[in-house]
Amino acid sequence: MKLPEIKGFIDLSLVDWDGKVTAVLFLPRCNLRCPFCHNATLVLNPEEMQTIPFEEIRLYLIKNKRWLDGVVITGGEPTIHNDLPILCNQIKELGLKVKLDTNGTNYDLLQELIAKEQVDYIALDIKAPITLERYSNAAGVEARKLMPEVQKTIKLLLERPIDYEFRTTLVPTIHNHEDITLICNEIIGCEKYFLQNFKNDVKTLSPRLANIQSFTREEMQVFLKLARKIVTNTFLR
Ligand code: SF4
Repeated sequence: MKLPEIKGFIDLSLVDWDGKVTAVLFLPRCNLRCPFCHNATLVLNPEEMQTIPFEEIRLYLIKNKRWLDGVVITGGEPTIHNDLPILCNQIKELGLKVKLDTNGTNYDLLQELIAKEQVDYIALDIKAPITLERYSNAAGVEARKLMPEVQKTIKLLLERPIDYEFRTTLVPTIHNHEDITLICNEIIGCEKYFLQNFKNDVKTLSPRLANIQSFTREEMQVFLKLARKIVTNTFLR
């Protein structure tokens, strides 16, 4: 049985799945290069990180599953790993729920995971409005072929096959007011939309963001107000 390599493990988190006590697994590599990514080594040089055997994690989960609600699988981008469903199955077989963090660029795999009930919750990062210039700018790659995948994933989740949230990290020099309006127009009727402020306390994938300050509280409130005109269930995180 082949499983994706696991390059990071948090044994207890109260912040990665709202209201749930979780463990968190980090899978390596990503098909995007968001300049504001906080996991540069995991994305660019995962071979520099130690691989954690799943068997070790499995034993921990078995020992502690009484008080764990579930496991968050994040990255990197988990859906670039074709063997992700096997990992999800292994966790579900222990009686734990699975939350997946994704950029939504692998629609087919996400659809399969949902259809086979191998995930319980999806957090979809919407990097920017789904237009070639805006999305490519935020994702750090030419996004022509990826955008239809993200659009299909959004559409799928809007049909509420499982619990989900959409979220966007707002970054000065990358996002503006119009972006929020455009994104919200793509996700009208969504269950939950979270706006997250860029944090510059951790090294970013692109050094050009090293000296960029986060948005102020007031600026985030303006984004929130704009979003709520279209998507009432928008929140700041
Ligand atoms: S922030 Fe962007 S580059 Fe980093 S893991 Fe997420 S999708 Fe990939």
